[in-house]
Amino acid sequence: MPNRPIILGAGIAGISAAYHLQKKGKSAVIYEKDNDWGGLCGYFSIEGFRFDRFVHFTFTNDAYIKGIFEKSSPLYEHPSISYNYYHGAWLKHPAMNNLAPLPTDEKVKIIEDFINRPQKDIAEIKNYEEWLKVQNGNYFAKHFPFVYTKKYWGQKPKNMETKWIGKRIHSPDLAEVLKGAFETQDKNFYYTSVMRYPKVGGFRSILDDCCKGLDIRFNKKVVRISPAEKRVYFADGSSENYERLISTLPLPEMVKITDNCPENVQQAAENLHWTCGYQVSLGFNKPDIAKYLWFYIYDEDIPPARVYSPSLKSPENAPEGCSSYQAEVFFDCRDKIPPAEEVLTKTVTKLKEICGFDDKDIKVQDIRFEPYANVTFTHGVYENRQIVLDYLKSIGIDSIGRFGKWDYLWSHQAFESGMEI
Ligand SMILES: Cc1cc2nc3c(=O)[nH]c(=O)nc-3n(C[C@H](O)[C@H](O)[C@H](O)COP(=O)(O)OP(=O)(O)OC[C@H]3O[C@@H](n4cnc5c(N)ncnc54)[C@H](O)[C@@H]3O)c2cc1C
Repeated sequence: MPNRPIILGAGIAGISAAYHLQKKGKSAVIYEKDNDWGGLCGYFSIEGFRFDRFVHFTFTNDAYIKGIFEKSSPLYEHPSISYNYYHGAWLKHPAMNNLAPLPTDEKVKIIEDFINRPQKDIAEIKNYEEWLKVQNGNYFAKHFPFVYTKKYWGQKPKNMETKWIGKRIHSPDLAEVLKGAFETQDKNFYYTSVMRYPKVGGFRSILDDCCKGLDIRFNKKVVRISPAEKRVYFADGSSENYERLISTLPLPEMVKITDNCPENVQQAAENLHWTCGYQVSLGFNKPDIAKYLWFYIYDEDIPPARVYSPSLKSPENAPEGCSSYQAEVFFDCRDKIPPAEEVLTKTVTKLKEICGFDDKDIKVQDIRFEPYANVTFTHGVYENRQIVLDYLKSIGIDSIGRFGKWDYLWSHQAFESGMEI
């Protein structure tokens, strides 16, 4: 069937595109480089422990998408309660609203600077560093989000712009900050009140129903696209003609593998930044080691930015009587990446200290690297992204998904981008 649309990548965006084409009576074929589907929504298993590829919950309010996810798999609803680890103290999230556990002198500095924070109209703010100071005051900004930005985004905040923030970060007022400095607050300030997660099958099982009947070809890494011949070439030496090509591949990869990309498009792709990172996965032989659904770490000498518990997301993610954590360690795409063994050792050593477990509690430990995690909103990102997207469109390629649209898309938004196509 030569006129079937070809979709590159079997992540949630590619699956959604194929599923919605199928619903319209048009079949498509998906080519995926890995030997399984799911992309970043996928998982791996070791000795009965299941680990997603980074923390994943769904919190869409879109009735249609929620219905599809729920049809695939019944979901737990976890309250969005998370924690922050900062220099030996555990603060409920967001830290600025829950300063109570900090030493009095530090709380005074934070609140003083919060009251005297720079006053600026949002429209005047030039970068994320300024934004953080205006929101929080200098002391808190420097000790909490500046450090976290480097750990999570691989960037100094002054290198980042601010449109991506939206409603993702809560902006506290003085009464909230003062209350939280005296006593830990029950009120939840997170951008969503519940985090949903499949009861069985890991995060990707939200897609089980959509995958039925789809034609997915595995171990098909695309290594070259010829727009002139309308042909995609695979690492195994085979190739296929296309009439319609839909890609979920990261824009910088598309530019590398597409024949004769103009220099300005190559330059625009060169200017894009993203994070890559390690997942450090730990399975414990005890049920009570993992205590937090997820938490953030602000200390510079502890590699992970964030740690979450697969077994608290769903007990089905661990063998009976066991629990698990997965830590996320990120870098900018152009950083020199430290060797896996070094990151694993340092992460495990530090987590033992802060989470109170021992070598004898660890049943499984694993580290693996993900080349694309988050799109980074460095200055110029929108202009550079547009140059690449316009070029792909001009040669008849539709680009969707988190790295195809080059945007901060949650899984349901990546699903939506496949639906729109
Ligand atoms: C740290 C982190 C935490 C996250 N947490 C959440 C969360 O809690 N909730 C939420 O909703 N979302 C979360 N997300 C976002 C979510 O993972 C993405 O929005 C979604 O998975 C993107 O799907 P996609 O299909 O666009 O891309 P991908 O999942 O990256 O799919 C692309 C596919 O293309 C394949 N591919 C790549 N190159 C080639 C090639 N050359 N040839 C063939 N195939 C190729 C890949 O193997 C992959 O399967 C998180 C993401 C990260 C990084």
